[in-house]
Amino acid sequence: MTQTPPSGASPVLLVEDLHVAYGRVEAVRGVSFSVDPGTLVTLVGANGAGKSSIINAISGLLRPRSGRITFEGKDITRTPSHRLVGEGIVQVPEGRQILGTLTIEENLHLGGWHVGGASASALDETYARFPVLGDRRRMSAGSLSGGEQQMLAIARALVARPKVLLMDEPSMGLAPKVVDEVFRVIEEIRATGTTIVLVEQNARRALRAADHGYVLQTGEVVHSGRAADLLADPKIVEAYLGVDASH
Ligand code: ATP
Repeated sequence: MTQTPPSGASPVLLVEDLHVAYGRVEAVRGVSFSVDPGTLVTLVGANGAGKSSIINAISGLLRPRSGRITFEGKDITRTPSHRLVGEGIVQVPEGRQILGTLTIEENLHLGGWHVGGASASALDETYARFPVLGDRRRMSAGSLSGGEQQMLAIARALVARPKVLLMDEPSMGLAPKVVDEVFRVIEEIRATGTTIVLVEQNARRALRAADHGYVLQTGEVVHSGRAADLLADPKIVEAYLGVDASH
């Protein structure tokens, strides 16, 4: 097992010896990793490896059994999720979780609820980045395609002006062309300096976009390192990423 934390500036996010359990099911067993400011770190691994549990523990949706989570040097292990949004930790949840009966703009306002709704400038920025959302701002979010709904989920998180954006399986259930679009948006967000923690089953794709990667298996980190090094390691590719190098 390799555990190579990213080096350099002090981490914006530090996860130490995290344990998450659902009753007797130990979903996360002693996971540690660090995220440097402005980098994209991905957690990859098969279905059930514990990726969502880690993300939900960071965002305060789940209370870890033990371990410590530090954000900008401050212990946030027991900070509730609504306070973390104000601090700058914002999650794009698995399955998007947009509210289909509300309009697109109303969904965006939910992203800024902690400051009384999305500001006019935040909405302008959003519509400039995602024109399809601007064109249809008064339509119900449920009328959007799956890919557009994922864009809305990402846009809603950006309205909260995250310092650290936690993304849980943003490519799930989307057609390959739409997955390309989602990854293009992820890379754009990262280019603006926002730190990203990306959880993906699409490991190869996520590692191509990431600076550092952590490979999880049944709740433990089994490999970590520079994403490019993980992708270049035939043993890791064969064991965890599948043999098809084309995706
Ligand atoms: P997926 O890609 O399916 O979301 P994952 O890597 O994100 O997988 P988790 O969802 O964190 O993994 O699940 C890790 C383990 O915890 C799995 O064994 C799962 O069955 C179990 N688990 C997750 N949520 C619950 C829950 N609410 N109650 C009981 N067990 C759970």
